[in-house]
Amino acid sequence: MTVFEAAAGSMPAGMTPVARIRSAAVRLGLPHLAETLERHTAYASAEAMGHLDFLDMVLAEELAARGERRFRTALRRARLPHHKTLDDFDFTYQPDLDEQRVRELTTLAFIPAKANVALLGPPGVGKTHIAVGLAVAACRAGYTVSFTTVDDMARQLKAGSANGSRLACDLSPYLRPDLLVIDEVGYQPFAHAEAALIFDVLSRRYEKGATILTSNRGFHDWGHVFGDEALATAILDRLLHHCTVVDINGPSYRRRSIT
Ligand code: ADP
Ligand code: MG
Repeated sequence: MTVFEAAAGSMPAGMTPVARIRSAAVRLGLPHLAETLERHTAYASAEAMGHLDFLDMVLAEELAARGERRFRTALRRARLPHHKTLDDFDFTYQPDLDEQRVRELTTLAFIPAKANVALLGPPGVGKTHIAVGLAVAACRAGYTVSFTTVDDMARQLKAGSANGSRLACDLSPYLRPDLLVIDEVGYQPFAHAEAALIFDVLSRRYEKGATILTSNRGFHDWGHVFGDEALATAILDRLLHHCTVVDINGPSYRRRSIT
């Protein structure tokens, strides 16, 4: 018995080769091949492709399709507010922004380095846009990403520690991702319990995972935001040890059409 006959033996009898290949492709976890088989074979015949070129094309397409599926799944899991990229960002609108510094971040070297990015500036200057652009690029590169506003994170953590025990609180959704984006630090000051939980996340991620943080407040104001100078200093100490700080001090893009 040939290997083909042996393999065919595990398939229902009477299948055509196309049906058999499709069924095998699905069982092997190659859904793209199962869907595109006839288109590919027609193309190969039309182009008089050799066997090696045909197999090469089929496998390359399967890999590309798998990469795209992973990217879509990563984007969904990241729960980004939108999917704008840095290609959509108009740097000419923010002449004081250090474009080179932002471009360097797009290499994503800060993620395996477990380093941080702080995007600072008033409302509307593009902090969230740049954070999301980096997050989309990270998803594309195969990293796990999670996006949250700091208020949502504080609320979730507080709900998780409702039995009163900070130690029992499950921080793992904020510790697991390769990249955590914490948006909008500074719009609301925190009560002590919330500030302490945020400190827990940042200190547990310190040198273990990359974090992007956006804030409308300069670091000197963080004592007020966290309601405690010592805690703010401890947070900043960890955040800034390995950190690219991007200051965006320019006009709000939201108001660009208002003269
Ligand atoms: P911030 O987080 O600083 O308040 P956002 O990133 O939410 O600001 O930006 C506000 C809106 O303006 C978003 O829709 C964003 O995509 C857009 N935007 C901001 N700056 C730019 C820019 N330089 N080029 C293109 N779009 C921009
Ligand atoms: Mg924002």
